[in-house]
Amino acid sequence: MGVQSLMVPRILYIEDNFENRMLVKRVLMAEGFEVIEAENAEIGIDLALEYLPDLILMDISMPHVDGLMATRHLRSLPELNHIPIIAVTANVMKGDREETLQAGCDGYIPKPIDIDRFPEQVMEYLRNGR
Ligand code: MN
Repeated sequence: MGVQSLMVPRILYIEDNFENRMLVKRVLMAEGFEVIEAENAEIGIDLALEYLPDLILMDISMPHVDGLMATRHLRSLPELNHIPIIAVTANVMKGDREETLQAGCDGYIPKPIDIDRFPEQVMEYLRNGR
């Protein structure tokens, strides 16, 4: 991660729900993050390759290509292999966390997000890297 990206972290958020995208974008932009959003996995994968974000936030429950499939695909692309992928999901049943990690996610933030803690949670994952 370069100095510039540490100063202005570039986050890609892949999420099919409009309200969730608006909330996360508002909360992270208020802290000075750059936020790129994708409404489905296909667009998200294209934008990841185009913008090489510092971190990807991944919804798991999405139509067509879900977040697990999208993560597996992203993890198959060597040029994106250094980018942390963090699941943001309401799937909190036993085993869901392990499933996201097995797919290639580096961490997990449960929904609903805590807007007071969310930017720091994301920063922590940025600091930790992969
Ligand atoms: Mn969803």
